[in-house]
Amino acid sequence: MSDIKPNKIIIAVDGFSSCGKSTFAKAIAARLGYIFIDTGAMYRAVTLYALEHGAIRSGIVDEEAVVRLLGQISITFRFNPQRGASDIYVNDDLAEGKIRTIEVSNCVSRVSAIPEVRQKLVAMQQEMGRRRGVVMDGRDIGTVVFPDAELKIFMTADPAVRARRRYDELKAKGDAVSLEEIERNVRERDKADMSRAISPLRQAPDAVVLDNSHMTVEEQMAWFMERFEGLKN
Ligand code: C5P
Repeated sequence: MSDIKPNKIIIAVDGFSSCGKSTFAKAIAARLGYIFIDTGAMYRAVTLYALEHGAIRSGIVDEEAVVRLLGQISITFRFNPQRGASDIYVNDDLAEGKIRTIEVSNCVSRVSAIPEVRQKLVAMQQEMGRRRGVVMDGRDIGTVVFPDAELKIFMTADPAVRARRRYDELKAKGDAVSLEEIERNVRERDKADMSRAISPLRQAPDAVVLDNSHMTVEEQMAWFMERFEGLKN
């Protein structure tokens, strides 16, 4: 008997850094009763582990050392009822708060460009979505991880708006960061993610574009529901 859930689909949400992909994808998952998977958190978790285990020193990523560490890294998501969302764990250690620092953000695009890292994480993501009924956000979900996803959304927003959102988020958490540093990071990650050799960030030909520069989350949800309902016709 097939364990594919009837009528449940895969929704791929790809796009630029700090576009609000996770907020949007999480809201969709809650609305539809789907599982939400933040694949950026997985690349960040590997980067954090590499930082903590000496494979990244003074911002220099030792690719071979990262690959050697890969076998020791086990990533899991566990639902946290207090947050109403899943937390990411690396080898049973809670990593959620530690993966969103500017230090991790500054190194993650170099770690995510390592072929062995992508191979491992893409296989995990495909397994997580095997039964469908998932909303997965990232850079290559609609192009590489699930090219057969029934609904693909490509998100974009003005880089200055994106930097401001990330800045407000980190500031609210008490991180001492400057808006200039965040804006530089956002632009550099866009460039690195688009120009890497494997699975570069690009819009799938069958994806619909959502530019949310001037949209509230409610407006984005209304936009989404229109497309989702449209699938049935
Ligand atoms: O989504 P987020 O900004 O947290 O992702 C962090 C980084 O992880 C991205 O800049 C990108 O380098 C990498 N990433 C990726 N493929 C994905 C998701 C994220 O390469 N599917």
